[in-house]
Amino acid sequence: MPNIDVMAPDAAGPLWDEIRRKYSGARSDRYDEAALDCAGRLTGEPGAVPAAVWALGLVLMAPYVASRPGAGVISRVTSALRSADGTLRARPCPHASHPFEEHGAQDDKRLAARVAPLGDPALRWPEGRSREEWSCPRNAAGFARIALDIIEPDTVADVPPRLPLEAVHTAADLSALLHGYPKPWTDVNDEIAWQASGLATAAPEDRAGHLLIVRAVTWYAVSGTIRRKAVLDDLAAALEGALPFFAGASCAHDHHAELPRSGPAAAELGVMLSSRAGRRLYERRHAAGRAAALETVVCPVFLTEVAGESLRLLRERRGKLFGHRDTSDLDHVYLRPDGRLDIAVIVDRIAPRASNEKYANDLGLWAARRYALAEGRERVALLLTACQSMFNAYPYPPPPVAREVMAVLRAVTAAPRPAECAHAGAHPELFRAEFLAGLPHFYAPEEFPAEGEPVGPEAWMCPEFAGVVAAECLDDLEDLDEDEDAGDGGGDTAEDG
Ligand SMILES: [Zn+2]
Ligand SMILES: [Zn+2]
Ligand SMILES: [Zn+2]
Repeated sequence: MPNIDVMAPDAAGPLWDEIRRKYSGARSDRYDEAALDCAGRLTGEPGAVPAAVWALGLVLMAPYVASRPGAGVISRVTSALRSADGTLRARPCPHASHPFEEHGAQDDKRLAARVAPLGDPALRWPEGRSREEWSCPRNAAGFARIALDIIEPDTVADVPPRLPLEAVHTAADLSALLHGYPKPWTDVNDEIAWQASGLATAAPEDRAGHLLIVRAVTWYAVSGTIRRKAVLDDLAAALEGALPFFAGASCAHDHHAELPRSGPAAAELGVMLSSRAGRRLYERRHAAGRAAALETVVCPVFLTEVAGESLRLLRERRGKLFGHRDTSDLDHVYLRPDGRLDIAVIVDRIAPRASNEKYANDLGLWAARRYALAEGRERVALLLTACQSMFNAYPYPPPPVAREVMAVLRAVTAAPRPAECAHAGAHPELFRAEFLAGLPHFYAPEEFPAEGEPVGPEAWMCPEFAGVVAAECLDDLEDLDEDEDAGDGGGDTAEDG
């Protein structure tokens, strides 16, 4: 049994509002009971409490009812709502209009405050439309239809548009993800791939909206955060599949809409245009002067351009992120004519600063590839260059780069190490200014005079030092590796720049 008397509107209002705010998709006996009790009263014998009270209650509880309530709750609630609408909607009344006609989703949070005063004329009536208009049976019928519209979108007419709950959740999840803080339950790869399949399977009238969602998530997908090539493949395939639907169109528009440039705003627009109710909301926004005309957004000529742009970006970045990287050209950059490392240039480019991010992947890969051919001090310098570059790569080294560098690092960590270091003093410390300043002197002491108290060459060359540095870098790269699929260069060619 409910632990409060849901019959009394002053107690019911807070409970209903709690259900609106707190429902989580999990079933609750208490919530089931409250919804069924309210539905029973809506269709029961009219009493002192106007039907509008129970209709408002079901609007507040509708998101819960639409989630996963107990068996039979949805059908009992929706049939009560339909029956109340049928009985009440044609009652004669003196009102020119009713509050429900201007009630949008953003107003739900203010409904609970009406419940108690509607049920008890002795209570102070809040600001806004009159008590008579709120308690009118036709207003009750209108709110009953709004509750139905929440539970079963697109099944009723004559209610203000509101986004379907599913779209509300999608918009919230995407907004969090694209702001860089995905909800704890979001699998980033799945969420983006899901948007690709949304476009591939969209109904014709929803296709433009889904295309705009894909446009928004594409920016995120190519940022280097997504480490599964299949996700980018899915997005590209969905765009390729959509293009023929827009092909061959012509239009007489002078200009098309200016689309949002931020990921979250772009996704929100796409979600809005992916449902009929959302497009009605958009039309209202346009009528209020807050958005471009819908036809200048969903125009097939324009969408062809939009899809083409996303596709170009995806293909280019897919090549960079997942393709094979040819580093042979870098010999000219990082080796001197005499074949020795140009250590001054290398040290300058492995310094941890943002302007070096563009060199990090290729330089790290180049150093790792050369490592196998090198010996002595060059070998040590190349290992340190590879590791320091992996730390500098932003946001992360792409999977093929990480895999190749990891193979080299694994060999280093597997090499035998002495039980004790054979040198006095500490090892150099990566990232420290002394490390960067000391590396040229270690590599070519005759060319680069020592600065301060240099770390001796034995410490630089120590197998324990190499093992520790390699293991640390390997650890970081292996954490990333968990997110990847099997290596597939796909024949693409990659270049940073
Ligand atoms: Zn009326
Ligand atoms: Zn056009
Ligand atoms: Zn040592």
